[in-house]
Amino acid sequence: MKISPEIEDNHSNRVTPNPIPNLEVKTITSFVLVTDKLRSSDVVFHYFYKRCLCGCIMKSKLSKQEIQAKIREFFEDVENKTPKQVKKIKKLAMSKNISLKEKRKSFCKKCLVAFKNPKTRIRNKIKSVTCRNCRYISRWKLK
Ligand SMILES: [Zn+2]
Repeated sequence: MKISPEIEDNHSNRVTPNPIPNLEVKTITSFVLVTDKLRSSDVVFHYFYKRCLCGCIMKSKLSKQEIQAKIREFFEDVENKTPKQVKKIKKLAMSKNISLKEKRKSFCKKCLVAFKNPKTRIRNKIKSVTCRNCRYISRWKLK
């Protein structure tokens, strides 16, 4: 009588330490139980849900520092950028309250064309740059 419980204990100790197969069986059975119609609607729902979620994450994914780095990279080669790209980067900077500061002076305020060897004059401590595209004259005080 005393020996048999010990044997049972040993037996149970051997069986218990693997709970993973059980979980697998559960998921498989639940998958089988769901009808085809339900499954397809579920798939469609999850597809759109995931897409929406991804869109939200992608929009908010860029942190302020990442955007700052992007802007820095953009203005290193600003001369070869189109006005559309300049507008886009300006909007991006504005969305995170990042001031472009000196970088602001590298493109025309009116038509957003990047300055390429513009007409530059200095008079009475005021620097004036004429846009070759729209002839708008930007003026900045020199410090
Ligand atoms: Zn211009």
